Amino acid sequence: MTTPGLKLGCVADDFTGATDLANNLVRAGMRVVQTIGVPTQPIEAVDCVVVALKSRTAPVAEAVAHSVAAARWLRAQGAPQVYFKVCSTFDSTPQGNIGPVAQALMADAPAGAGAEFALVTPAFPENGRTVFKGHLFVGDVLLSDSPMRHHPLTPMTDANLLRVMQAQLRQAQVGLIEHRVVAQGAAAVLARIDQLRAQGVAFGIADAVGDADLRTLAAATQHLALVVAGSGLAIGIPALHGLRPSMQAAQLPPPRGTCAVVSGSCSAATHAQVADFMARGGAALAIDPLRLAAGEDLAAQALAWARPRLSAQAPVLVYATAEPEALRAVLAQLGADKAGALVEAALARVAAGLVQAGVGRLLVAGGETSGACVQALGITQLRIGPQIDPGVPWCYAAHASLEGKGLHLALKSGNFGSVDFFTRAFAQR
Ligand code: ADP
Repeated sequence: MTTPGLKLGCVADDFTGATDLANNLVRAGMRVVQTIGVPTQPIEAVDCVVVALKSRTAPVAEAVAHSVAAARWLRAQGAPQVYFKVCSTFDSTPQGNIGPVAQALMADAPAGAGAEFALVTPAFPENGRTVFKGHLFVGDVLLSDSPMRHHPLTPMTDANLLRVMQAQLRQAQVGLIEHRVVAQGAAAVLARIDQLRAQGVAFGIADAVGDADLRTLAAATQHLALVVAGSGLAIGIPALHGLRPSMQAAQLPPPRGTCAVVSGSCSAATHAQVADFMARGGAALAIDPLRLAAGEDLAAQALAWARPRLSAQAPVLVYATAEPEALRAVLAQLGADKAGALVEAALARVAAGLVQAGVGRLLVAGGETSGACVQALGITQLRIGPQIDPGVPWCYAAHASLEGKGLHLALKSGNFGSVDFFTRAFAQR
């Protein structure tokens, strides 16, 4: 069965990156569903499906297998182009996974025009990611001078994307589509692509320093079977299908029920948001990992605390968010893995219990925490709605496990959102 009207299929290498991409497409006028892994249920009629994987740092063979399966499913639904969404800081290692996955997706695309060349650009100028002469800048500095050079899993110590990508590929060549060419428009980019193809180049790293460049690149690559990009390139795609920014694309069913926040992020922005929520008199309860480790059922206690408060219609907040000093003390005693697992399991139970208790609008803070909560809620598909803050839209899940009631969800990665996010999100209609 196909998804009628499907214009684009996306394979994202992580969960919050998928939401970021979906958010850009919705803002530019596409109706988008994000799925957790390859869907097993039919999809409603939308313009784009984003399949969220957890493949960025998975073993190469696993990342390749899951990505190819997702792309095949998208093509079977009728997607004419596959958009492989990678991180805007090109998070990867000499082993992969961007190169091997991109190569496998290209090899798996049906033979024919547009299948033997792919455009590659992580540029997203609105978020300070620009590419010039094949070098990636993060704000005002080269990627290799940014904090990304210290990333624990994917340290990025080289800003030259041609070198980075080439090291990950087997018998495939990388070339450059320079800004000088991009600035001349889509026809010049197409001519450059032809030139690169004639030289046997399979992947073209494209410069882009502004939104106009991204729109040019999107137009020039409309008929390619595969593009490899951060979420930036997406801003230029809906217009190519005659779509314009509209309230309709982001429309979700009306919200129902009460409001709650579950926060497992210890990032600076989340910390300030928790403090702001409490300073405004919001009802909040802390979860202490050391008490969890001692065997206390804090999830049950939190739900007992929350139930009477929910009827007051004001949002409740259950949080494990801790100051760096308190966090260090917990990590020293339990270790990061055990503390993380305990907190995630407890907050996921809280999220599921809150929804059972009538919460219809749930905000989750933290990337890993979001993954744990979505899993506990049994959610596999999210319709993407209006943006609350950059990178964080309201989403809607109409899943069987929710007993047909439907849930509005916002999944906020740690450092996203303004200080009053926990209050403002619920004021948005
Ligand atoms: P972010 O998006 O800010 O990185 P995540 O949810 O991805 O947030 O990661 C935060 C991790 O820290 C989670 O595994 C969470 O369970 C864990 N965590 C949250 N609070 C505490 C705490 N007080 N002590 C130890 N670990 C915690």
